Amino acid sequence: MDVRDKIFINGEWVASTGDGVLEVIDSTTEEVLGTIPNGSVDDVDRAVRAAAAAFPAWAATPMEERVALVAKIGEHLAMRTDKIGELISREVGMPKGLSVPIQAGLPVGAFTDLAEHVAAFPWEEVIGNSLVVREPIGVVGAITPWNYPLYQIALKVAPALVTGCTVVLKPSEVAPLNAFELAEVIAEAGLPAGVFNLVTGVGPVVGEAIAAHPLVDAVSFTGSTRAGKRVMQVGAETIKRVTLELGGKSANIILEDADIATAVSSGIFGCFMNSGQTCSALTRMIVPRSKLAEVEEIAVATAAAFPPGDPFTEGAMIGPLVSAVQRDRVRGYINKGIEEGAKLLIGGPDAPEGLEKGFFIQPTVFSDVTSDMTIAREEIFGPVLSIIPVDSEEEAIAIANDTPYGLAGSVWAGDPAHAEEVARKLRTGQVDINGGPFNVSAPFGGYKQSGNGRERGKFGLDEFLETKSLQR
Ligand code: NDP
Repeated sequence: MDVRDKIFINGEWVASTGDGVLEVIDSTTEEVLGTIPNGSVDDVDRAVRAAAAAFPAWAATPMEERVALVAKIGEHLAMRTDKIGELISREVGMPKGLSVPIQAGLPVGAFTDLAEHVAAFPWEEVIGNSLVVREPIGVVGAITPWNYPLYQIALKVAPALVTGCTVVLKPSEVAPLNAFELAEVIAEAGLPAGVFNLVTGVGPVVGEAIAAHPLVDAVSFTGSTRAGKRVMQVGAETIKRVTLELGGKSANIILEDADIATAVSSGIFGCFMNSGQTCSALTRMIVPRSKLAEVEEIAVATAAAFPPGDPFTEGAMIGPLVSAVQRDRVRGYINKGIEEGAKLLIGGPDAPEGLEKGFFIQPTVFSDVTSDMTIAREEIFGPVLSIIPVDSEEEAIAIANDTPYGLAGSVWAGDPAHAEEVARKLRTGQVDINGGPFNVSAPFGGYKQSGNGRERGKFGLDEFLETKSLQR
């Protein structure tokens, strides 16, 4: 049992003034994996005041020193990669073979690779008689989700610290233990007291207290559109900057002349990765009607090659979902797909055979889905793919854009230049062309109700900066 009975404020592990503890559940065994403090509004106030007191000195610390300290956090995190990968496998359910490089490895890079982005950033520019300077915004509240828990944290904490901001972090109550590992590492790395603070608890209490606090200058939120709207409403009272990385319903457009076998099998992976609990999951596969039979055959064969199983088995690709709530939600969507007349190709609402314990779900593929069906409109956050047949490229683009979301997408075509033309017509923050690989330095964020602002690389620094013009 990982019992965490203190929160981290002003460089010290201190007791929370909140009531009781929150249990963290192992998604494979359904047993209690650990407990965390159920933090209070008062905890947030103490943490924010510590962060506000630490801000002037941290902002005045030379950039190179901040970059070096932040890189040191990454180096210390790297020493715990195996432990953190295993912990997140238990919290979230991602197989350990993937969790170590993705869930534990990506955060290391987020802390260690900032020097090059800082070097490329336009910190000062001359415009006519003005010198335009960029300054840290102040105290940053970071509110994060459970699906890539430590990476989401790292994408906020690392750039915020480098720019000279101080931070109060509230991680997801569902997968919070990794955040305690980070706080320990930050203490080891020797950051000044108050520069980083950790308060755990539930969103409506701790999260809203951060969004409401007058001494918090900016909130960086990743999570659902529902909670993001609430954070924006609460933050509006003090006109604080609120940046939001929210949900998605991303389309994978496969055109007539694409390499269908590669596009479909890669698309299945893009949907089922992390059991479909990925904000940018390619959940709508839009294909030419003339190719539907071929697409269905490849989709079924590929999905069948992703049997869910114990995340600690060698070679496992899909583990359980994160929680009972999430499993029941996903099952509800699968039933809805069947009720609304989509064609179930593989999978279904029942637990996979032999996996009644743990929050497992069968990877599921629907075909003959239409854009008005619930499974084509709402974010499911499970391994459920909707294949939508269309009669033209124009229809494919129109359906891809027919969603309140705008996070990600993918286009496959025989001619990459043609794929790029289509990609430019998609109203989303990123599009992969013919399987273009994940780029940790490329900006990431959403159009429409998938959010505002961008994380990663030099774009990620912007979220935490104010702009000042000096007229001379
Ligand atoms: P939630 O929105 O439920 O939670 C995210 C965080 O917000 C948690 O820390 C949560 O606290 C907190 N929270 C909840 N309610 C409030 C509130 N009223 N005020 C302040 N904070 C609140 O999302 P999930 O954790 O369920 O994550 C899944 C969602 O995140 C999906 O929709 C997914 O698409 C999105 N996501 C988006 C990404 C992106 O970059 N665009 C990346 C990853 C996920 P608590 O701990 O109590 O839940």
